[in-house]
Amino acid sequence: MKLAVVETEIPPDADPKLPLPVLQLVGVRKTFADFAAIERIDLDIFEGEFLTIVGPSGSGKTTLLRMLAGMEAPSEGNITFRGERINNLPANRRPTCLVFQSLALFPHKSVGENIEFPLKVKKIPPAERKQRALELLRMVRLPESYYGKNVMKCSGGEKQRVALARAFAYDPAILLFDEPLSALDYKLKKAMEKELKDLHRESGKTFIYITHSLEEAMVMSDRIGVLRAGKLVQLGTPEDIYARPADRFVSEFVGEVNVVSARRNDGGEWVADDTGKRLRVIVPAALAGSPELALVIRPEFMRFVDKPGGADNTLEGTIYNEYSLGSRIQYQVRVGEKTFLIEMSRGHAWKAAPAATVTIGWDAGDAIVVTP
Ligand code: ADP
Ligand code: MG
Repeated sequence: MKLAVVETEIPPDADPKLPLPVLQLVGVRKTFADFAAIERIDLDIFEGEFLTIVGPSGSGKTTLLRMLAGMEAPSEGNITFRGERINNLPANRRPTCLVFQSLALFPHKSVGENIEFPLKVKKIPPAERKQRALELLRMVRLPESYYGKNVMKCSGGEKQRVALARAFAYDPAILLFDEPLSALDYKLKKAMEKELKDLHRESGKTFIYITHSLEEAMVMSDRIGVLRAGKLVQLGTPEDIYARPADRFVSEFVGEVNVVSARRNDGGEWVADDTGKRLRVIVPAALAGSPELALVIRPEFMRFVDKPGGADNTLEGTIYNEYSLGSRIQYQVRVGEKTFLIEMSRGHAWKAAPAATVTIGWDAGDAIVVTP
């Protein structure tokens, strides 16, 4: 197969040690009538990485993945595979294979026939097909005895593994996943997340995965892109997304957080918007001119303060409730109209009666400072 070659410019000072992008999106936009589902995305996806695109429902994840799979063409911009433009290359001629949530298995066929389908299309002889199918069964951790089993007699998690084995049978350079685990129960999902990560490592292939669950993205990915209303608002490692969210949307997407709105008073000091109380804030250079900020404090960085000056910023409140999260305990503390969350490990549990008056606080360096 020969693809139309586009000239890709490699700058003369390019670092030869940097991996080359296997897929490149440049100014990719997708509109349906006058609605833009994807807004001019630039994205380099590197050989062998596990990249997850995460975003709420309707943010454009499936649209983006369908463009990578060749089921939709971009309205603007270019998609290149190892430097060759593939915008209009049909799905069956792309180096990608898409694994859906619905799995799309052939219901009246055996596990073996399902896995061998791509091999049959490639006209690989039966004995070789079977051998490869058995290898793939082992790879996805299903017993060889499943080869002849009707696929509809498999459990949800087993069907998932069959769909994965079939995707690997295509031997694509890139595997694309559209929320494949969202129909599974919690425990199975957690186990499959780890297995997918292991499979990624063992196969060395490039995985592009989409999900609405950032928790899922965090477990598996080398890099995560956060999509909001068709825009890629942040791209980074799980650690970047967790510890240095680009904005309030990303920080709240990571999980339950405490948010304190702050504004500058006439004297130039930062004060809490609702109480007017002075706050110690470390303002990032990029937000230095901002008159208003949001301080995001994760529950594990909020704490009970039992002596004056025990934290940079403090609030008085009352204990409203406490919940066991297994190894951790979460407290809800009412401060005026607002509820703050504090989480700590069970070993450090705070003994406080409901409705007890408490002081809670956080240090300036533990707040994530973002635009409101
Ligand atoms: P996600 O997978 O993140 O839930 P989608 O990519 O499915 O989001 O959809 C993004 C937006 O684009 C939604 O508002 C959806 O209604 C719209 N959309 C998707 N496909 C089409 C289509 N074929 N025609 C019109 N609108 C579409
Ligand atoms: Mg979707």
